[in-house]
Amino acid sequence: MLAGIYAHLRGFFFNFGKRSFEFSTDRVCNVSKGTFKIMSKVEFILSATNKDHYPKTSLPEVALFGRSNSGKSSFVNAFFNRKKLAFVSNTPGKTQSINFFKAEDKYVLVDLPGYGFAQVSKKLIRNWSQMVEEYIAERESLVGALLIMDIRRDWSVDENLIFNWCVENGMPLVVLLNKSDKLSRSQQERRVEVLKAQSSPEIIFFRISALKRMGVQEVKEFIFKEWINA
Ligand code: GDP
Repeated sequence: MLAGIYAHLRGFFFNFGKRSFEFSTDRVCNVSKGTFKIMSKVEFILSATNKDHYPKTSLPEVALFGRSNSGKSSFVNAFFNRKKLAFVSNTPGKTQSINFFKAEDKYVLVDLPGYGFAQVSKKLIRNWSQMVEEYIAERESLVGALLIMDIRRDWSVDENLIFNWCVENGMPLVVLLNKSDKLSRSQQERRVEVLKAQSSPEIIFFRISALKRMGVQEVKEFIFKEWINA
C-alpha cells in the first residue's frame, strides 16, 4: 500500500538585470514504500563569459566539462534531482557562457560550455577554449573537474586538451562515462579499459547513466569526500 507525503515549496525569483535568477526554497519530500527523497537546494547564480563576471564567492567549485550530446544537462538535473535545471542554452551559435550553480550553500557546480558541436566556426571554438582555459587557470576556488563523455566514444584531442589544462593547473580530473545503460556490464568494463589506455592511468573513471540516475550518487559522494570535505 502506498503512503505518500508530498510537500513542494517554491520560491521563484527572476532578475534579468543582474543576470541572476534563483530557486530559493525547493524541497520535495516523497515518502513512498519507505523511500525518502529530498531535492538539493540549488540556486543559479549567474552566467559569465570572462573572469570579471565570476561570482564573488569563496565556496569550493567543481567544474563540469562535457561534449555536446554527452548528457551534461541530464547529468546536472540528475545530480540535483531536478527535472529541468540546466536550462541555459547550449545550442551552437548562441552565446556560450559559464554557468554557476550554488548548492546547499556549501559548494558551487560550474557548468562549462559544451564542446564538439558539429558545424561550429573556428571563432566559436577559439572563444570556447579561451573562456574555459581562463576559468581553469584563474579560478582559485576550483577544487576539481568532472568530464562527461558518452561511454561509447573514444578519447579525442578535445578530451586531451581538457586533461592537459587540468594537469598544468594541478586540478584533479574525473571522467564520467555516461549512457552506460546502453551497454552490458562486460561491454562497459571493456570500454573503461580502452579509454584508460587512450588517456592516462591517473584518471579515475565512473560509469554512470544520467537518464537512469545510476552512479550519480557515487559521484556526489566522491566529490564531497575528496574535494569538498563538507
Ligand atoms: P548535453 O548536450 O550534453 O547537455 O546532453 P543532453 O543532456 O541534452 O542529452 C543528450 C541526449 O542524450 C538526450 O536525448 C538525452 O535523453 C540522452 N541521454 C542523456 N543521458 C543519457 C543516459 O544516461 N542514457 C541514455 N540512454 N541517454 C541519455
